Amino acid sequence: MTTYRMSQRLSCHDDGSSVYFYWPAEARGTALRGLAAELFRALRPVLQGDSVARATLVGALAHLVDAERALELITMLNDKEVLVVDDGAGPKLTSLSEKRIALTGSARLIDPVVIHLASFGARDLALEEPLLATPNGVRVTPTNLENGDLASLDLIALLDDRLNIRRHRELNAAAIAAKTKFVSMRLFGSSFEMGPLVLPGKTACFECFWHRLQAREEEHGPPKWFTEMTKPPIATSEGPTAEALYQIAAAHIALEIRRCLTRETVPISMGRVVEHDVAAPRLEVHRVLEVPGCQACGAADVP
Ligand SMILES: [Zn+2]
Repeated sequence: MTTYRMSQRLSCHDDGSSVYFYWPAEARGTALRGLAAELFRALRPVLQGDSVARATLVGALAHLVDAERALELITMLNDKEVLVVDDGAGPKLTSLSEKRIALTGSARLIDPVVIHLASFGARDLALEEPLLATPNGVRVTPTNLENGDLASLDLIALLDDRLNIRRHRELNAAAIAAKTKFVSMRLFGSSFEMGPLVLPGKTACFECFWHRLQAREEEHGPPKWFTEMTKPPIATSEGPTAEALYQIAAAHIALEIRRCLTRETVPISMGRVVEHDVAAPRLEVHRVLEVPGCQACGAADVP
């Protein structure tokens, strides 16, 4: 069995008779057999940059299109790493202790998230506010994300219980510009919303999500979270439900940060938003598609 990594979202396995494609984030797959598998196998060396195979294909394509255009297409497929041969070592796991994570937003969320991250092995945190208590072995450096060097961070997490959308949009754009991963969480009523996890240049961003939410508002009335909000527009602040919401939300975002930085499993909020009402209870996952020409992430696509 030969394994190829085709993109962030798709892997490909060839056992000599069939070619299997697998989308891990969606846990689905498909297979090519017979002639289709043969044709894919013939095309694969071209996608991998084999110059002889490339010349043969350009020759064949020249009957259909201009040879120069055919070469352009093949070069683009190579440059965009549509197909990269896996070295067989499997995904490279990294430890959270090697990662520098910035947490910003509500202190009531940051404190429990720090406890979880420390238990997962995180050792290097950048924070704007001091903690109630710093777990042993964790180094905390004060930071000002508005003026800070975002490129030195591996991930920025915004934990918001005030629906401060402006802050989401500003940090999202700044993180993309610095090529730093960004994940955000919003608490309101008895619910939290997590994501989208933004991998600059690879996934839809918060601005894409926000843009689509506004578009939906124009089409079908106010967004669902707004119409459902019979409670105050911020998280329920007191009582047992509030305590549970903060604890559950903190555990979810800490696990997501670990998934994102260690590659142990695929992050659940990559190109998605997870919605969880802890009182109902209800958990929904919504896909977030890239907005073409998005003002925050659209430029990241341009080579
Ligand atoms: Zn975007």
